[in-house]
Amino acid sequence: MTKHPARDARVFLYHLPEYDVGRIREIVGSTMAELGLRPRGRTLVKPNLVMAGEMCQHAYTRPEIIEGVLGALQDRDAGEMSELAVGERSAITVPTRFTYHEAGYEPVFERTGAKKYCFEEVPQLEVRYTHDERLRDYVFIPEPVVKADFFVNCPKLKAHPWTTVTFAMKNYIGIQDDRHRLIDHDHALNKKLADLQYVIQPQLIVIDGVIAGEGRMLTPMPRNMNLLILGNNQVAIDSVTCAIVGVDPRGVDHIRFAHERGFGPIDLDDIRVGGDVSLDEAKERGRGFKIGLIRVEKYFEGTSIQAYAGRPPSGPKGDDYCWGGCPGVMEEVIEILRVADEQCDRKLPRIHMVFGDYKGPLDVSYGEKVIFVGDCVSWEGELGGELVKIRSKYKDRAELDPHDVKHKDVYARMAKMALKLREAREKPYVRVEGCPVSIGELMFLVAELGGLKNPYFDKRALYFNQAYLEWRGKTVLERLKGVPYQVSGDNAHGEAKPRDLAPPPQGGE
Ligand code: SF4
Repeated sequence: MTKHPARDARVFLYHLPEYDVGRIREIVGSTMAELGLRPRGRTLVKPNLVMAGEMCQHAYTRPEIIEGVLGALQDRDAGEMSELAVGERSAITVPTRFTYHEAGYEPVFERTGAKKYCFEEVPQLEVRYTHDERLRDYVFIPEPVVKADFFVNCPKLKAHPWTTVTFAMKNYIGIQDDRHRLIDHDHALNKKLADLQYVIQPQLIVIDGVIAGEGRMLTPMPRNMNLLILGNNQVAIDSVTCAIVGVDPRGVDHIRFAHERGFGPIDLDDIRVGGDVSLDEAKERGRGFKIGLIRVEKYFEGTSIQAYAGRPPSGPKGDDYCWGGCPGVMEEVIEILRVADEQCDRKLPRIHMVFGDYKGPLDVSYGEKVIFVGDCVSWEGELGGELVKIRSKYKDRAELDPHDVKHKDVYARMAKMALKLREAREKPYVRVEGCPVSIGELMFLVAELGGLKNPYFDKRALYFNQAYLEWRGKTVLERLKGVPYQVSGDNAHGEAKPRDLAPPPQGGE
């Protein structure tokens, strides 16, 4: 095992009764002073804006946190900061410019003058990995991340269906655009997250734990914890936050992997914890916190959905369940539909959902539909008097080349699902492909099959369309001007290394 770097890992726990920008600015500024940090060069703040808006009120880093952080960075600038920016890529093909708007970030950009990056709209640079445990040799990363000189990671404290929790390290899934984010977003997700740590390490981490999110990640239940958690090391801050919510950090694979690769300490004895809330008091606030990581069969017990999960294609000795992929997608889908339509569970007819290489029987009665989910699904048996053979279409990850992956247009996906819907109305089963299947596609299909309110057609659709057209219009214009979207080889970045694992003290304070 690699020993964690000698860098002094610090975590600070502060009481924050409400989202008060002035107080956040003060806490972040004084913590930066204690750590001897001053922003320099291109300074980038990365929130968690996976989704925002009415249905996802507790899923994202609140704008007050970002405004406080931006203000503190400006206060601490000794004239060396050349750019102050916020950057993110939202999930499920929603344009990030739409999410910024829904999350209330636009007034923050106006008040602070910070630049806004939508990572799907900027050039993607090839970053090469050389560490032994890597899943692949290179990945594509948005230019503002690759070129950041000072990086501040501002995640939300939440549960997660694929990775148990999402704090600092998991927030890195948003440093890739859609086409690259979904590569290895399956049972290797925790390894992917550990690999992404080599791209960049933050000088500062600020976790929004004021109103945390329990149970799931897109539509979490609010949990008042009144905590602002700050630190200078990803593994250390994630380990302390795990302790607060009663989770063993060694049981969260990406945290353990990053620790084993030398990114930071996982044992609380190796981490200096300060601030105005003791760790014991913080643990008291996190007592009984509902985490994610529930197998799909159990998740849907007692509902109209019956789930059947077989092995993903990682061999007989590999994972027996795809924690990072399709089963968790379906758990998030149902929760979005429940928020969109309060009659969801009452309206949904009985549906069977099959994942992975499933060898058992399906308990299907006349008229009930079966959805086979994902590229790797396989099953053989009789449905509606017909012998059905579903074969795996899974492509080994070694065959996936990040150079060649294509963007999947949200409207093209919806059109594809409309065809699937027609198929499902004519046959007792339908197959939805993808590795993983996209949340948007599955949501569209289940909403239409169940006669539920479809979130894609809610009252925000008009603004969503406008944001989408602006994004695609900008991209087309840049291609016409000859700006490449992906940059490879020596023109890109070169070799990834855990920069700033042990940064020299700055500012002399
Ligand atoms: S198709 Fe879905 S369940 Fe199968 S390996 Fe890919 S993400 Fe996992």
